[in-house]
Amino acid sequence: MSRSVLVTGGNRGIGLAIARAFADAGDKVAITYRSGEPPAGFLAVKCDITDAEQVEQAYKEIEERHGPVEILIANAGVTKDQLLMRMSEEDFTSVIDTNLTGTFRVVKRANRGMLRAKKGRVVLISSVVGLLGSAGQANYAASKAALVGFARSLARELGSRNITFNVVAPGFVDTDMTKALTDEQRAGIVSQVPLGRYAEPEEVAAAVKFLASDDASYITGAVIPVDGGLGMGH
Ligand code: NDP
Repeated sequence: MSRSVLVTGGNRGIGLAIARAFADAGDKVAITYRSGEPPAGFLAVKCDITDAEQVEQAYKEIEERHGPVEILIANAGVTKDQLLMRMSEEDFTSVIDTNLTGTFRVVKRANRGMLRAKKGRVVLISSVVGLLGSAGQANYAASKAALVGFARSLARELGSRNITFNVVAPGFVDTDMTKALTDEQRAGIVSQVPLGRYAEPEEVAAAVKFLASDDASYITGAVIPVDGGLGMGH
């Protein structure tokens, strides 16, 4: 059965791998993008998740073309790394506004259709650093840790409505986000990872696809690490 899926930030990186995984399974996949040419094969809607009006417009367009969103993958996210001493208020609030409040905006809007349908699947993309902490990423780690409390609260609030909320916490994944790291930083990270390598975006997509599948019907409020063992015990 073809389901209506939305992946925020589905135009590149992990989001694109997730969008492809659902499209390959025959689902109707919408993605958001902010600028440039989006990849072909999806319903691409322009949407900056820091803008509530753009979120509303994106949902209207998706609902007209694909029907209400049944599966939401809140993947869009940013980093603005800086040591606390040098971290400006804008560095902090802009990362929170995208990663946490932006997720709130898209989840809240999706919930409308899910409540009506009396079912829904929501997967939030957090990060291993939300649980482990990361020097120079206090803003990012705080935003990603917050997603766990957000998802678990909603799992309790909306479980009786047959809507599940789960979190996937990737470790280091080969995308534009991690390309900024130096070879030395990469080697340092890999030395901490039991599996001894970065993840491919498709490996994150596989966990997300599972959480949206019938096989995961009794899983809610879970945090699934896809981190090569980096965060064990957290
Ligand atoms: P990329 O930097 O490759 O992609 C980020 C995506 O988020 C892009 O599609 C981007 O859109 C979108 N985005 C950013 N800000 C906004 C916004 N305000 N409104 C709408 N879309 C926005 O990152 P990754 O693919 O690596 O990361 C995807 C998710 O996975 C993020 O949440 C990230 O924090 C998380 N993650 C990544 C890890 C990694 O090692 N790469 C590890 C753990 C978690 P645009 O193209 O328009 O800029």
